[in-house]
Amino acid sequence: MSATLTDELLTATGQHCHRYDFVTRMEAEADAHGWARIGMVTDGTGALLEDGEGWHQHETDAVRAQSNWQAACRIMADAAGECGTLWDATGDGLMYDADSFLASDAARRIADSLAGYPLLDEDDHSAREWAAMVEEIEGSPLTLPDGVDGEDVLRELSCPSLGEITTTMVEDVLSGMGYVECSDCSEWLTPVDARSGEPLCRDCALEESRPATTTTLPIPGAAPWRAYTVYGHGEPLTAVLTPYLDGYATEQGAAYREDVRAIVRGSRQGYRAVYGRAA
Ligand SMILES: [Zn+2]
Repeated sequence: MSATLTDELLTATGQHCHRYDFVTRMEAEADAHGWARIGMVTDGTGALLEDGEGWHQHETDAVRAQSNWQAACRIMADAAGECGTLWDATGDGLMYDADSFLASDAARRIADSLAGYPLLDEDDHSAREWAAMVEEIEGSPLTLPDGVDGEDVLRELSCPSLGEITTTMVEDVLSGMGYVECSDCSEWLTPVDARSGEPLCRDCALEESRPATTTTLPIPGAAPWRAYTVYGHGEPLTAVLTPYLDGYATEQGAAYREDVRAIVRGSRQGYRAVYGRAA
């Protein structure tokens, strides 16, 4: 049995430079399925409909292709029965028995529809695009505050478009929702009321409480007055800061650098660490 390719398929093969063994492979596919003639679903421009899983310059192209591919599979299945009988999905595209009126007709409807409008199923496409944007937001280097997910952010963005959501846009949304970013790291905090100053997360507040220290070290062999000074930081004043962190900072939703500095300066440990003797 020698299978043949439909004229459309031969044209698509010629126009879109498919791999040299494409025709041979298609003939083999037709033979394997027991079809005398084989056709492939095209996308309205004459090119073969693709599944969207390969490389795409822009993610919107991939999402559109994936949506159209799945919708085309549904249309073929509705018209010509389950995959593998009168039509089949392969890495090359959607192939069908060109002598089946049902399959050929469905393939023509798909191509005609795409020639007039780039989407076969608008709802399916919107859902995929939405999911891809949520993924884009949640996959960004920015850590969202507890209780906020990609969808919450996406709903607040005006006219978001896939592949174009920047970290700045997400940060603006979070600020608009009342969150502020820790001044020293990327953790988002939820202050109860707007207060000027530099908000800090708990860890960064503890870091801030490390008192500045100076140590005078003699230079071996040199005269005593030629000692040199080493600047450093002591251990975090956890015990001093904990009442503030558990109390006021927790109630306010954030610690503030000014508070931490004032507490450290006013504390016996902070004083001792800085001045080297008890207050
Ligand atoms: Zn922090």
